[in-house]
Amino acid sequence: MRDRTASPAPTPRSSGSALGSAIADHLARAGVGRLTLIDRDLVDATNLQRQSLYTERDAAEQSPKAEAARRRLTEVNSEITLDAHIADLTPRNIAQLLAGPAGRPDVILDGTDNFETRYLLNDLAVRDGVPFVYGGVVGTRGMQTTIRPGTTPCLRCLFEDPPAPGTQPTCDTAGVLGPVVAIVAGCQASDAIRLMLGQGDRIPASLLEFDLWAGHRRRLDLTDARRENCPCCGLRRFEFLAGGNASAAATLCGQNAVQISPPDRPGRPLDLGSLAERLGGVGEVRLTSFMVRATLPAGPDGSQERCTLTVFRDGRAIVSGTALPDRARALYARYVGS
Ligand SMILES: [Zn+2]
Repeated sequence: MRDRTASPAPTPRSSGSALGSAIADHLARAGVGRLTLIDRDLVDATNLQRQSLYTERDAAEQSPKAEAARRRLTEVNSEITLDAHIADLTPRNIAQLLAGPAGRPDVILDGTDNFETRYLLNDLAVRDGVPFVYGGVVGTRGMQTTIRPGTTPCLRCLFEDPPAPGTQPTCDTAGVLGPVVAIVAGCQASDAIRLMLGQGDRIPASLLEFDLWAGHRRRLDLTDARRENCPCCGLRRFEFLAGGNASAAATLCGQNAVQISPPDRPGRPLDLGSLAERLGGVGEVRLTSFMVRATLPAGPDGSQERCTLTVFRDGRAIVSGTALPDRARALYARYVGS
């Protein structure tokens, strides 16, 4: 068996906070009526150390995480409704993806591994008055607070701006100790259940902090931490919602892979069948109902690694085998077109 034990310096090179897996598992078993899962990534063997919904088979097949999670949760509780979206959450699609048939969710839970998406969720939650259950994990540390818009401080009251790139440890540089996920996701799921049962006003305004390796736990009282001049909940300037899609090519945290997000193609999904046919002459191709995957040839001089291209119906792609955005963009343009 592969060794997945987290050492004192948890294994780097594994992406995703894993909070989404653990939260979804709790809420599905609790029997919430409907769960909407949104994830842009593919299951990788390095995820299995902490992302409890996935198996070695999911990793071998590089299944999209949202779809693998949906399959697993259906087996856990077939009576709930599961909406799985293989998508990158952006200012352009967030309202639509989170709306669901009921118009808006009862609660939004943070299972992200990046600040851009987290601040986007905070904007939407405050704008629409939806409770937002924040959680974050990195290394051996975790943090959790529940934001009730209009009552408790929002994320930007506490941390006005996301940290500058490169200044904070990430899942790439520090890994994540599995049990930290369990404790933070447990706090998040528990608050979500209380909110859904109408007991949100009994959740104290506080920020919980854990460092399981140092044996450190702390509760910060946030009763007076709401700021009138907070750009989001005070001044109601929703800067992250207003922003365009920040990057067309982004290196995925912790992986030798780059995501390519083409401009919106509303109402014009990609014809995966014909793309698979076109790529048939290039290398080994696999077609499913939600993606095409092709193994691309190495560079003509043999110096470049072989890359794998996974293209989804909305035109988004993940290029594995490189961390260079320019190379990924070039491969996308060459094999998918722009
Ligand atoms: Zn605020």
